Amino acid sequence: MNLLHNLNPEQLAAVTLPAQSALILAGAGSGKTRVLTTRIAWLLQTGQVSPAGIMAVTFTNKAAKEMLTRLATMLPVNTRGMWIGTFHGLCNRLLRTHYRDAALPQSFQILDSQDQLSMIKRLLKAANVDDEKYPAKNLMYFINNAKDQGLRAGQVEAYDPIERKMVELYELYDQQCQKEGVVDFAELLLRAYELLSRNAPLRQHYQMRFKHVLVDEFQDTNDLQYNLLKLLAGHGEQVGGAIFAVGDDDQSIYAFRGANVGNMSAFERDFKVRNLIKLEQNYRSHGHILDSANYLIANNQKRLGKNLRTDAGLGEPVRIYEASSDLEEAQWIIEEAKNLMGEGLPRKEIAILYRSNAQSRVIEHALFAAGIPYTVYGGLRYFQRAEVKHAIAYLQLMDNPHNDSAFLRVVNFPTRGIGVRSIEQLQMAADTYGISLYAAVPYMTGKAGTSLGGFVKLIEGARFETQQLALPEMVRIVLERSNLLTHYGNEKEGADRIENLEQMVNAAAQFVQEEGFGQSAPAHLGPPSQAQAGEAVLYQDGIEILDADAPLPSVMSPLSAFLAHASLEAGDAQAQAGQDAMQLMTVHSAKGLEFDAVFITGLEEGLFPHETSARELDGVDEERRLMYVAITRARKRLYMSFTQQRMLHGQTRFNMKSRFFDELPEEALKWLSPRVQSNWFANKKSPTAWDDAAFRNGSDNKIAQQITQKSAGNGVGWRVGESVTHAKFGEGVIVNIEGGAGAARAQINFGASGMKVLDLSVAKLERI
Ligand code: ATP
Ligand code: MG
Repeated sequence: MNLLHNLNPEQLAAVTLPAQSALILAGAGSGKTRVLTTRIAWLLQTGQVSPAGIMAVTFTNKAAKEMLTRLATMLPVNTRGMWIGTFHGLCNRLLRTHYRDAALPQSFQILDSQDQLSMIKRLLKAANVDDEKYPAKNLMYFINNAKDQGLRAGQVEAYDPIERKMVELYELYDQQCQKEGVVDFAELLLRAYELLSRNAPLRQHYQMRFKHVLVDEFQDTNDLQYNLLKLLAGHGEQVGGAIFAVGDDDQSIYAFRGANVGNMSAFERDFKVRNLIKLEQNYRSHGHILDSANYLIANNQKRLGKNLRTDAGLGEPVRIYEASSDLEEAQWIIEEAKNLMGEGLPRKEIAILYRSNAQSRVIEHALFAAGIPYTVYGGLRYFQRAEVKHAIAYLQLMDNPHNDSAFLRVVNFPTRGIGVRSIEQLQMAADTYGISLYAAVPYMTGKAGTSLGGFVKLIEGARFETQQLALPEMVRIVLERSNLLTHYGNEKEGADRIENLEQMVNAAAQFVQEEGFGQSAPAHLGPPSQAQAGEAVLYQDGIEILDADAPLPSVMSPLSAFLAHASLEAGDAQAQAGQDAMQLMTVHSAKGLEFDAVFITGLEEGLFPHETSARELDGVDEERRLMYVAITRARKRLYMSFTQQRMLHGQTRFNMKSRFFDELPEEALKWLSPRVQSNWFANKKSPTAWDDAAFRNGSDNKIAQQITQKSAGNGVGWRVGESVTHAKFGEGVIVNIEGGAGAARAQINFGASGMKVLDLSVAKLERI
C-alpha cells in the first residue's frame, strides 16, 4: 500500500527524510501530525526500523491513542512494542521498568495535582509553617517550577529568607514523597531525566534502541523535556537516534507551564539540523478562516516566519456577534448551532471554545435547557471525582500502604470512629520513627490502636481476598469491603455516586483489555507469567537492564498500571466516551484538534486577551497565539462572540470587545449584531433569522446560495481523515473528498485492499 500517495511534495520530502534529526516547522492544519504519523508508518513499512525502535511523543493521551489507531489502519503492525505517549506516560513507563535504578518502590504511585496540594498542606502544618506567609499553592508552584527546570532543592538559588524557606520546604517535600513512594507529575520527568543522565549503560541502551524519536507539538516542550530528548538522542555521544520534531512557533501556548519556544531554535542549533522543512499548504480551513488567522498572527513580533495558503476557496465569512449578556451569547450559539445541525452537521463537529473554564457554566446550562447533548473536555474528570478518588485510595493502599495521602483520605471514610485525635497521635508516632502512617499503626495503643488496627485489617483482608482475582473483580470487592457502596446508598443524593463507582469496574475491564493484561492473571502478585516470557534481562557492564521491548504487562502489575493510568488520565483533557455530542473546551485543550464549525466565545478585553497577560512579558503575544490556535481549529465555519456584560466569578463585568477584532481582515468578517437591539427583540426574530434575511436580500445573494449548496453537498458529514468501513474493502481512511453537491467522491485508503475512489452518494460506508 502506498502511504505516500496523498502527500504534497513538501510533506513527502518530510516523511521520507533520511535518519537524521529534522525540524518540520509549519502552521496550523498543514499536516504536521499527519506527516509524523505517516513517517512512522513509512519507516516501519520500508523495514528501516522495528516497532521497538520507535518513540513518539504526543501532547495528550488521546492524541497518542489516535496515532496508534491511525497506524493500525495504515499497516498491519503490532503497535504494542512502540513507545507512543505523552512525556509523562513515557517517563512512567521508563521508571516502572527501571524502578530499582530510579530508587523507587516497584509500586510507586502518582500524585495528581489535587493530591500534591493536599500533601503540601499537610507538610506545612507538620512543619509549623505559617500558611499565610507561605500559601500551599505558591509552594506547589515553586516546587513544580524548579522541577520543570530540572532543579533539585540543593540546586535552586535562593536570594532572600522567604526563598530559602521555600527551598527548605521543597527538600522536605521530596523526602516525604520518597518515604511514601509517591511521585508528582513533574517528578516523573525529572526522575526519568536523572535516571538516564546518571546511568550510562541504561542511557546507551535506549539510545541504541530508539532509532527514531518523533515529537509532535514541539513548540510546547519545556527545558526538562528538551534535555530528556537530548539524552535519548545521544546528543554529544557516539550513539543515538534521530529526532524528528514537528511544531509551530505560532502555537506555543504553554509558556506559563515553562514551555520554551526557544527550544525550536535551540534544537536547530544543538542538533545541527540540516533538514528544515516548511509546510505552507493548509488542508483544514476555508479561505476566510485562514486569512483571519494569518492577519491576526502577523501582529506578533517574534516569529520564525512562514505562510499558509489554501486551495479550499474562501467559504463562508467569519460571523461575529455582539451579545448584550453572557446568557444571550449562549442563546445565540444555540440558534446558530441548530442551523448547522439542520444543514446536516453532526453535533461532534461543532466545538464551543472559551478562554477560561468558568465560562462554560452558562453555555452548559443553555445547552442542557435546549436538550442538546454535549461533552465538556477538561472539566472534573472521571478519576478526579470525590467518590472515585476514595475508591482509588483503597486500591492505592493495597498496592502501596505507605501512601499517606491515600491513607488519610479513607482511614475514616466511610466513618469508622477514628477521630482527629487518634490521627494526630498516629502522625506523631510516624514522625518519631520516620515511617509512614500505615507502618506506625502497630505503635498505637488503647482505643485508637484498636480502631486503626481494624482499618489495617480491612486493607490486608481485601488484599488477601483479591490476590488471585482479575482487576475488575478486585475493584468490585474493594467497593464492597470498603463500605463505600453502602455509605453512598444511605445518602440522599448518592445514586450518581454509586453509578460512578460501579463504572469503575467497567473502567478496569476496559483497561485490562486495552493494555493486554491477561484477564485471569493474578492482579497483584506481579506480572502475568505469559508476558514474562517475552521479557529479556540484559546485562551491560554488570548492570541489569530490563529490556522494555516487552509490553507493559511485564513491567507492572495490572493494579499498579491501572492506578498510574487513573492519575495520568486525570491530568489530560479527555472527553468521556460519548455519542454524538457538541464539544465544549478551553482553547488550550483544543490544540491539535479540528472541527467543521467552531465558536470562539467571550472575546472581550480582560477575558481574551486575559487580564493576567498584561502583567507578563510577551503576555499579549501569547494570548494572540492562543487566538490563532482557536481560529485554526475550524474547517468550514467560524463564529466569534463578545458580550457587553457578563457574570464571572460572582461579579458583573462590563466589557470592551477584544482588541483581536481590529487585527482581523474586514473582508473576511460578517458582523451580525443589529444596530438597534431592542428592535429585534421586539420583532421576536432570532439574530440569525434577521441576519440571514439581510444576507440573502443583499448583493451577495448568489454567493450565499452557492455556499449553501456547497455545504449541502458535504452535508452528509464525511471528512478527510475519517475512518470508515466498507462491506467489500474493509476498514479504510478517507484521504480526500472532491466534487460538490450530489457528486461528492471520496478517495479512501482501504489498507490491504488499496486506495479506492468511491461515489459518496452510492457507496455504503459506515463510520468506525
Ligand atoms: P495543527 O497545527 O493544528 O496540529 P497539523 O499541522 O498537525 O495541525 P494535521 O492535523 O496533520 O495538521 O492536518 C490537518 C488536516 O489536513 C487533517 O484533516 C489532515 O488529514 C489534512 N491533511 C494534511 N495533509 C493533507 C494532504 N496532503 N492532503 C489532504 N489532506 C491533508
Ligand atoms: Mg497537529
